[in-house]
Formats: sequence, C-alpha cells, structure tokens
Amino acid sequence: MSQNEGVVKYSLDFEETSSLPFICVEEIEEIRVDLFALGLIGAYKNGIGFGNISQKEMGSSDFFITGTQTGHLAELEAKDYSLVERVDFDTFTTYASGASKPSSEAMTHACIYKLDENINAIIHVHNEKLWRYMLKNDFVSTSDVEYGSLAMTKDIQKIYCSLDALENKSFVMKGHFEGVFIFGKNLEEAKRELYQVMAKVL
Ligand SMILES: [Zn+2]
Repeated sequence: MSQNEGVVKYSLDFEETSSLPFICVEEIEEIRVDLFALGLIGAYKNGIGFGNISQKEMGSSDFFITGTQTGHLAELEAKDYSLVERVDFDTFTTYASGASKPSSEAMTHACIYKLDENINAIIHVHNEKLWRYMLKNDFVSTSDVEYGSLAMTKDIQKIYCSLDALENKSFVMKGHFEGVFIFGKNLEEAKRELYQVMAKVL
C-alpha cells in the first residue's frame, strides 16, 4: 500500500495549450469544492495530493480531469484542468492537452470509462474510514495489485466482466490505501452515490 499518487507511473504525451474554457469544467469544480471541504480531496502532510474528478466531454470519449499536483488547492481555476484525449493501454500512454498535466490517475479513469459507454463522470476520493468500511462490507473491491499499474487496470476490467458497472457504481481499491472510486451516468449521480455510501460510514 502506498500514498504515491504524485508518482507518475505511466507515460504521458502532453501538449501544453492555453487554459480550457471554464464552462467545460464548471460542474466538476462545483463538486470538487465540496469534496475538498469534506477532506475527501486534499493533500497529505508530506505534500502529496489525493483525490480527483473527471467528466466526459459531451458527445465525445475525451474527458476533462483535475490536473496533477492540485490536491492541496481548495479551489481550482480552468487552467488547473486537463483534457485527456486518448489512453493507449498497450503502451500505457495517456495523450492529453491543456494548461496543466492531467492527474496521474487519468489512466484509471480511462479504464473505468471503458467499462460502459454510459459512464460519464468519475470521482476518486481518499478516506480511511470509508475505505475500511467498504473493504469489510459487501462492496466491489480490486485485488491487492500495485496501484497505477497495468495489472490494476486489468484487474478492474476483469472484476467488471461479470458485473453491470452502472449497478455497481463504487469500488474500493485494496492496493491503494484510502482509495475509493465512484462513477455514474453524470456527476450528480456519482456524487449522490458517494454521499449515500458516506452516510453509512458516518
Ligand atoms: Zn488515490
């Protein structure tokens, strides 16, 4: 188990551009402000950030995601977001553009979007109580594979082979301390799902 989200384990093909239009990330930002206030997104004492949110671009498979090393910021600007255009799982390469590089967890987000084309939003948070609760109870859980590895993306795909993703909108990452993923047809649905699970823990 590690807390090394700041360590980029995949290769990134990044084109630096001007800031994305704020309207593209407005909905993500609105939810991120709340999740930061709840401590579900933030930074550890060692400075390493955790938690990220992404949302698919309307009518496209591209997705907007919070930038890397932004966990400590209570509010983000449009320039702190990135657009992920493609992820090549064979070469483990993420192709992205924007004024900020994407979160190093973009690969995991891309892997989740591949599960079902109706998934349009993903939230990743860290919380020890939530993590332990989900591991102990009947929630979908990834195996204890190294976080951010190719094995982890294969693990997610394998688990959801026999599960309807949108009927199982949250999973806990056994090999990623405190790490939980929640997704949905839209951001509102993902947020609601997160709050419902949180309500059981609190
Ligand atoms: Zn994480």
